[in-house]
Amino acid sequence: MQITGDMLIGGSAVRGTKGTLRAFDPARNMEIEPEFGAGGTVEVDRACELAALAFDPYRLAPLETRARLLEAIADNIVALGDALIERAQAESALPKARLEGERGRTVGQLRLFASLVREGRWLAATLDSAMPERKPLPRSDLRAQKIPVGPVGVFGASNFPLAFSVAGGDTASALAAGCPVVVKAHPAHLGTSELVGRAIQKAVADSGLPEGVFSLLVGAGNEIGEALVAHPAIKSVGFTGSRRGGVALVNIAAKRREPIPVFAEMSSINPFFVLPGALAKRAEAIATGFVESVTLGVGQFCTNPGLVLLLDGPHKQTFIDAAAKALAQKGAQTMLTAGIANAYKDGVSQRRELNGVQSIAQGQQSDASCSALPALFQTNAMQFLATAQLEDEIFGPTSLIVTCSDIAEMVKVAEYIEGQLTATLQIEPEDYEIARQLLPTLERKAGRILANGFPTGVEVCHAMVHGGPYPATSDARATSVGAMAIERFLRPVCYQDLPAALLPQALHDENPLKLLRILDGKPVQA
Ligand code: NAP
Repeated sequence: MQITGDMLIGGSAVRGTKGTLRAFDPARNMEIEPEFGAGGTVEVDRACELAALAFDPYRLAPLETRARLLEAIADNIVALGDALIERAQAESALPKARLEGERGRTVGQLRLFASLVREGRWLAATLDSAMPERKPLPRSDLRAQKIPVGPVGVFGASNFPLAFSVAGGDTASALAAGCPVVVKAHPAHLGTSELVGRAIQKAVADSGLPEGVFSLLVGAGNEIGEALVAHPAIKSVGFTGSRRGGVALVNIAAKRREPIPVFAEMSSINPFFVLPGALAKRAEAIATGFVESVTLGVGQFCTNPGLVLLLDGPHKQTFIDAAAKALAQKGAQTMLTAGIANAYKDGVSQRRELNGVQSIAQGQQSDASCSALPALFQTNAMQFLATAQLEDEIFGPTSLIVTCSDIAEMVKVAEYIEGQLTATLQIEPEDYEIARQLLPTLERKAGRILANGFPTGVEVCHAMVHGGPYPATSDARATSVGAMAIERFLRPVCYQDLPAALLPQALHDENPLKLLRILDGKPVQA
């Protein structure tokens, strides 16, 4: 499939006329063909109007049609073959094996949502029988189900050009919910976005669904994204990226005549607690595993462990020495974009200048362009609590070790930090009492709590939570990964005394969709 540099507005390929932009190969430090035409508000209006027109026919189509659409998108992405991987590699400098794995995750995610759509539990079909004889007042027949919210605007992330982008978790869960999707392509992987966008466009056409079920916009600068969030047809937004970008979109959404939710996944430093028993028994093994996690994918994971908490004591130095030694062997590698590499360099140099912070290791220099040199820092809890910048995420292969004089100080740091995607405990049975002191705080702070693992690596499954309190996300009630991600794009509707002929199928007495339903407060399997 050829990359043309066009936007995909419904079933059409449209050339933007508001300037031009090109993708960039960070490893070769050069622009990549072809030139893309940037769109403006005219194209945003057109894509959103088509999405609004498509909403009712799409959501009211049989669930089987929706499930097959998701599967067809997955099949079409696989059919793109090596061309997709090669383009994504050129645009992101991510290794081939990593991108192949990410493609597997992307199509697996689409198929998971297809099976979820068929199974129908997300409809939350609930029936309360009428009680005409009830005194003093009779009760009506009340039936409820969830319906999609409406067209969704999606902003893909730079660090997952497939799994968190055009056909990533936001798009898959929104389409599964019954919402048309308008994607704003990430400028760091324009060609990859077009290829995947065309795979979705073809699947929509082959399914016989309205063209407005999917559109892909390309813009130069913030204007197109701002217009997308502000458009009255858009009823919800999924975003992964910087805190600044996420907060800007949340503010636009809140100021609309009709405010809408923005599910923005933004910033997390993922605290990593090494408790005394684990430190005594496994200091070196934990330290080397931690360095692998920090430097994996040039540290470009939102779940990167950017903060380590250790207790003072005889084994503290064993951990620090082993981590410093392991990190010093890691080479500088190319980052996703020149902008991200510059932001990393600035963040690390600023940290180096802070009072009370020691630089304890750095990786090996290399000639790689747009590269990041791994770096490890150390401070103590008092300094950490007194220096606000130490809590800032530095996106890349770096972390900060914070030493605590006792458990109370460790709990104090846990209490002080902002909301997180993850919190990790390295523990042995003798640490459980301390873990019990930390857990109530960690539950309030994080979306996922791990024991004896490393936070990088997010499984796509039913129980996954990739979310957390602000600034990890803008809405702590949601996850952007896993089956529960569909909940972001649904809302409940109750039908009171509607004649059977007018009720949605999911709520008919005979349960024709064979759903698990709640009948008079009790679960009933068909
Ligand atoms: P970004 O700058 O926030 O961009 C993400 C998307 O949002 C892009 O499509 C961008 O397009 C758009 N956007 C950003 N600000 C906007 C605004 N004010 N109005 C409208 N649209 C806006 O994130 P990034 O380029 O992926 O990475 C930059 C930084 O984000 C990294 O250094 C890192 O700190 C962080 N990051 C975090 C995660 C995470 O998982 N939490 C993932 C990746 C990156 P335009 O620029 O074209 O408007």
